[in-house]
Amino acid sequence: MSKRNTFIIYLLFFSVILWFKSDIVCFANEPVIVVIDPGHGGENLGAQYEKYTEKELNMIVAKYMKEELEKYENIIVYLTHTDDVDMSLKDRAEFAKEKNADFLFCLHFNASVHQNLFGTEVWIPSKGELYAKGYQFAEIQMQQMQDLGLYSRGIKTKLNDNGQDYYGILRQCSKLDVPSVLIEHCHLDHDMDKPFYQKGDAQLMELGKRDATAAAKYFGLKSDELNIDYSNYEKVPVIAPDGIVKPDKTEPEISQIEMLSLDNSTGEITVKMNAFDNDSYILYYMYSFDGGKTYSDLQKWPRPVWNQSFPDHTFKVTVPFDQEIDFVACAYNGFDVWKESNHIQIDAISSPQNEESIPTAKVIYEEISYEPLNDYEISGFFDSEKNLLLLAVSIISMIIIIILCVMVSMIIKLQKSNKQMKKK
Ligand SMILES: [Zn+2]
Repeated sequence: MSKRNTFIIYLLFFSVILWFKSDIVCFANEPVIVVIDPGHGGENLGAQYEKYTEKELNMIVAKYMKEELEKYENIIVYLTHTDDVDMSLKDRAEFAKEKNADFLFCLHFNASVHQNLFGTEVWIPSKGELYAKGYQFAEIQMQQMQDLGLYSRGIKTKLNDNGQDYYGILRQCSKLDVPSVLIEHCHLDHDMDKPFYQKGDAQLMELGKRDATAAAKYFGLKSDELNIDYSNYEKVPVIAPDGIVKPDKTEPEISQIEMLSLDNSTGEITVKMNAFDNDSYILYYMYSFDGGKTYSDLQKWPRPVWNQSFPDHTFKVTVPFDQEIDFVACAYNGFDVWKESNHIQIDAISSPQNEESIPTAKVIYEEISYEPLNDYEISGFFDSEKNLLLLAVSIISMIIIIILCVMVSMIIKLQKSNKQMKKK
């Protein structure tokens, strides 16, 4: 080989090495691009409950999420909109595509038609790699919300009649191959969830921070400012499904109840319920005393993790007195499809008749109340007629006693002087 050829080969070799290295360096420096989409806006208010309007809450949480995410290195964060405008779902997805987004996080709050549902949920695309990415993020997001105390309604897909993703933002993003999820933080209209958003700005900030933390973990980000390094964070491995991941449309397979005990004096019954869903998980249960005409509020069904549930649960309830009870329960699955249990007939329990023996503790307590005398009562002592009479009686008694004493001493003196007179 000539000297020239050897030189060319060496030159080619070093060029390839340089090109490869620069590409790796370049790739490593490629920042993560995140688009946050505050749900609704403008005329489109979203859910409304009492003084709360969803579009406003979504925007506040979105801004806090952006603020927190920007504390991490190597990330660029955009909001689809910052003004109060009604942006189409297509425009939001296209905005993310234009920005070359690695993910779009769509933020929402929920409310239910019957105001009976509570908890947090993440909706994800139903197909392929986008499903896998959605699920992987949602798993982290769900843990963030559960750690805060919110009840997990699950990570789910939902389809429209055409078998496409039901939620427009997921459908539009999937068309453009942008990974996306829709986060429903909690239900505005349920007592179980109100404590997580109604106490003001700090709570919305907390939700935004947790959304950001989930994203930071997902992308393995680092923050010197926060002194956090998620670069070794291990995500749950999720394999991209071949077909469409369909929601569970069928009711739970098992929903059975058995009465373990009945306390005739208190009306308390202990019920063991068996419930199981082959396709998803049991989410809630509820019970009825009148054969299913009216039901209790939905109750949490015990679940060790969000996508598992225990096959049975024992609970106590107090049945109303003086009426025949037709006890029945319902098991709800993660997709809000429910199955009624068998019925248990309970004879009317008469209300306790021994009212006389009911301790009068309350009355006694009221009699010996320890209310301190206030100034008015002290100065007003003589204003009370009863007190004046008491005072008069005391004075008269004292006068009578003094008169009696004087009379007795006078009688004694008189007797003494009589004796002395006799002696003389
Ligand atoms: Zn919404």
